Amino acid sequence: MRIVNHDGRLTLLDPAPDDHGGPDDLRGVDVGRASGGRFAADPQAVYDRWAEFRDWAATASLADAAPLDPDRLGALTPRPPQVFAIGLNYRDHAAESGMGVPTEPVVFTKYASSFTGPRGAIRLSPGNVDWEVELVAVIGEGGHDIPAARGWEHVAGLTIGQDLSDRTTQFAAPPAQFGLGKSYPGFSPVGPALVTVDELRAAGHDPDDLELGCLVNGESVQKGRSGAMVFGVGEIVARLSAIVTLLPGDVVFTGTPAGIGAGMSPPRFLGDGDELVSWCSGLGQMQHRFVGGAS
Ligand code: ZN
Repeated sequence: MRIVNHDGRLTLLDPAPDDHGGPDDLRGVDVGRASGGRFAADPQAVYDRWAEFRDWAATASLADAAPLDPDRLGALTPRPPQVFAIGLNYRDHAAESGMGVPTEPVVFTKYASSFTGPRGAIRLSPGNVDWEVELVAVIGEGGHDIPAARGWEHVAGLTIGQDLSDRTTQFAAPPAQFGLGKSYPGFSPVGPALVTVDELRAAGHDPDDLELGCLVNGESVQKGRSGAMVFGVGEIVARLSAIVTLLPGDVVFTGTPAGIGAGMSPPRFLGDGDELVSWCSGLGQMQHRFVGGAS
């Protein structure tokens, strides 16, 4: 199953036979209307009734699926109750950051007001703005003290995220300000669709080993595999829920592979007019354009 936020409304995608490739051939049904009001149009509300929604979606008719406008796709999780982001979760990225491989997950948050959709323009903050493509997990059923072996059962689905980072703010003074530096408006784009783990498997993808990357103005800058994460999704769910009670609709950014701008020599950052494409196997891609910023 794949869902999107289309024009602010929860929409179930029609998996076209030629497969969900490009965002330009998106088709779907409006969940609020197709369910006769049983499920709310609000894309954030669905996670509170995830099991029930999955059952409904499995039998929902897609006969009335209509073309969707990719430019009207919004944030899948417009108001996540909690947001977790894992730092230094790929060995090659820890190395390029001049840090050791963590023995405990490095956890910070991105504030909910920074969330945006998978398309469109993002205004640059005044500092040096960097990219970090990431696999993002959205929590379905919450819980406390979830064992790693059951971690995936609590994940509603996966999508792509960009953990956009103003390095100037992040490293203004020690210790680093991860949460603030990564939470300017629009600095947490997520999308295009939430894809369930069973759907990924059915399409031949291993949810524990997805390829992901991003391109700046058409040039590949990051490319890695989620199988190389220090802490995989199940382990992250276990480590987080050992402390914090996870809630339906929580978002987890799982870390970025090597290739960030700050790790280049000389360092490279996003500028006015730059285009960023972020992709992951089985999950599609996001496209953003940056505007403004320091002159
Ligand atoms: Zn990150």
